[in-house]
Formats: sequence, structure tokens, C-alpha cells
Amino acid sequence: MGSSSRTAAFHTLGCKLNFAETSTLARSLEEAGYARVRVEERPDVFVLNTCSVTENADKECRRHVRRFRGINPDAFIAVVGCYAQLKPDEIVTIPGVDLVLGANEKFNLAEHIERLAEHAGGDGVVIAGPIKEVKRFIPSYNANDRTRTFLKVQDGCDYFCSFCTIPLARGRSRSATIAETVEQARAVAASGVKEIVLTGVNTGDFGRQHGEDFLQLIEALDRVEGIERFRISSIEPNLCHDGVIDLVATSQRFVPHFHIPLQSGSDVILQRMRRRYDTALYAERVHRIKQRMPDACIGVDVITGTPGETDEEFQKTHAFIRSIPVDYLHVFTYSERANTTAVRMEDAIPMEVRRERTKQLRILSTKLQRAFYEKHIGTTRPVLFEHGETGHDQERGEILGFTDNYVRVALPFDPQLVNGVSSVHMDALNGEGLMRGSITSAVGV
Ligand code: SF4
Repeated sequence: MGSSSRTAAFHTLGCKLNFAETSTLARSLEEAGYARVRVEERPDVFVLNTCSVTENADKECRRHVRRFRGINPDAFIAVVGCYAQLKPDEIVTIPGVDLVLGANEKFNLAEHIERLAEHAGGDGVVIAGPIKEVKRFIPSYNANDRTRTFLKVQDGCDYFCSFCTIPLARGRSRSATIAETVEQARAVAASGVKEIVLTGVNTGDFGRQHGEDFLQLIEALDRVEGIERFRISSIEPNLCHDGVIDLVATSQRFVPHFHIPLQSGSDVILQRMRRRYDTALYAERVHRIKQRMPDACIGVDVITGTPGETDEEFQKTHAFIRSIPVDYLHVFTYSERANTTAVRMEDAIPMEVRRERTKQLRILSTKLQRAFYEKHIGTTRPVLFEHGETGHDQERGEILGFTDNYVRVALPFDPQLVNGVSSVHMDALNGEGLMRGSITSAVGV
């Protein structure tokens, strides 16, 4: 099977980091001569990039492998990503899987496929080692979106929160140097992309092994020409210090949008989670951001139903979130993950109770977001209108984009606006919670 006439398709589960890495893997197969096609186009090679955070990681993996086999029973199927590092021997038993690569080998995908592709349909091969051997930082960014790019600036984590498997799937915290990361950002800028989203596992922990830090990184990125906006995808509260907040507040490029994991609004539960802050620090950070940038948007991660979370503790979380000026929530239902300390904890919460708490917090999130959007009606903000599927709602004949502070805006479709930042007056909210606006001036295309 010569690679010159061969095709490969990719499917990604999970986070922005996985999407950036899939794009890097796709580029390596393109360099090896494979043409990239969509999953439905019956490729010769399927690559599934897996996630380990959700309880359905295994079901999702099985479902996609079955789907791939349904599309092309003769194809070569490779599985990579966090679930592949955690459970390689389980995955290789799924009918149709030809190759499972662990964290240390996933970036050698092209080489392994070249070597093994002749054996599609035979016994699957596992190439995965202990996570402690994973030391390399491999830069990545997704190149298939002309408007916004996820730039991987950090990988792994040293925090070992009690409920989390990510350190077991991705290894210890590591990154490239500031100089190398700035080079990556320049390459992305040269491709015409307008917004870079800095992504990682514990993004704010950038640079420690090089004696550098996250503030120095964003100071350097703030000087990169050609990028209109930088967005920090997520930052731990204990790493979101005044220096970072002040840079964003004074920067022309870093947008006033912070996503800060809280996980619980109860100090007792935060201790059980082994988080590195308490609610007082969290609240103080949130108030500091809003004091410096009153229109900033603050998103919050919360997990419901971790061991020992009584009704009272949950009510503390609900009340705490209502007591601070935050604007939307990402709510996750706790699920036991193998080899974490939480899985050995007593006082497990029944799943239906966990799910009910998740529902209550998602209702709260809708209210918070609506209030944040309503606050901006009548104001004017810069909107980056997107290219491609995410930006063009064909059915409604609309173009979509985000303001700097993460308000989703819809306008009648105008090709002139695609992939450019325009100044938009926020007119009104529609029934779906989208902001309707009108152009005051088209700034940069
Ligand atoms: S900070 Fe905690 S929750 Fe986040 S990746 Fe690290 S161990 Fe997991």
C-alpha cells in the first residue's frame, strides 16, 4: 500500500489540546504523502484521537471504531490520545483496531503506519510505555481553521487533583521555551489566522522547567505582529496572579476573557479535591479581574457529585457562584476514574443525585450568561466573524462571531465580513440567546 495514493481521516474526542494535536498528526501524514479526507469518504487509514476525562471514553472509542469499520472494513485503524495511554490493552481488543499508540509514540504515527499498514485486519499492535517516560514537549496547533487557532503552549500536569486522570494520561508538566513558542505564533500569524487561543493542560504552569513563566510568555506573545487577538483558554486560579490580569487589562491583543476552574464552592470539598486554593482566593481573583476590566467575561468549571459532597456542600457551591460576578459555567458530572485517589474515597454520591446537581448548575449558567449578554445591549464591541462551518449559518443566512469578551453575535451574512474584526453595536438578544448586532465600522479583514 504505497502512501502516494492513500487517504487518511481523523476524528477527535475531547479538548482543544486534542484538536491541536490531531492537526499536527494530520500534517505529519500529509508530509508522508497521505491525502486528508473526511471520515465519510472511505479513507484507507482512520485515526481516532481519544479523551479520558468522561466516563464514556471507552464507549465513545468503541462506537467510533465500529463506525469506521462500517465505512471501510479494510481500513487501517489507529487509536491515540489520553484513553490510548491509560487503557492500551483494552483498546487493542476492540475488533478492527490495528494500532494503539501511547503518549510517547503518538507523534511518530506516520512512521508506525508506514511500517504496519500492510498488516491491516491482523492482530492489533500496542506501542505504549509507562507515563513517567513521557518527557518530550511536542508543539502543536490546528491549521484547518482560518479564523482561530488553538496553539498548544503547555502539556501535562503536576497537580494530581484527587479526581483527575490527566497527569496519568499526559505526564508531568512541560512546555517549549518562550522563543520556540513565539516562533510557533509567528508561523500561525503568517497563515492569516486572526485569533490564537493559548491551550494546554495547566496552561498557567508554562515554562517552569526552563526557568521561564506564563507572564513572560504572554508579554512576548503580545509583541507578535499579525495576530489580532490572543485568548487564554483556561488558567488555574492560583496561577491567575495580578501580573497576568494587569497585562490582559492593558494589552491591545489579549482579550478580556478568563476561564478559571473552580470545581467546587465548598472549601471542605476543595481540600478533598487537593485543589491549590480556597474560595476566598478564588473570589478575590474574580473581583480583581472585574475591578481592572468591568466588561471582562469570566467562565467557570465546576464538578458535581465528588465523594463526600453532601446536599449542604452542594448548596454552598451554588450560593458561592451566585455571590461572585462570573458569567457562565461549564458543569461536569463527577465519574470515577481508575487510579485516582478519589476513586478510593468513601461517601460516593448516587449518580442520579450528581446528574440532578449538574442540571441545577446548568440552569444557573444559562441565567448568568443571559445577564452578561443583556448587560452589553446598547454597547459597541469588536467582533471577529468566523470562516467556514462555525461562522456561516446557511439555514438562517447569518454570519457568526465572538466579541473580545466572548459574546456570540449573529448578523445577516456578508462575505466581506468573513475572517475580519468589525465594530458591532449590540442591538438585542434573540430567543436562542444569540446577540443581534449592526456594523458600526468594518475594522480589519
Ligand atoms: S490541575 Fe488538577 S484537574 Fe487540572 S489537569 Fe491538573 S490534575 Fe487535572
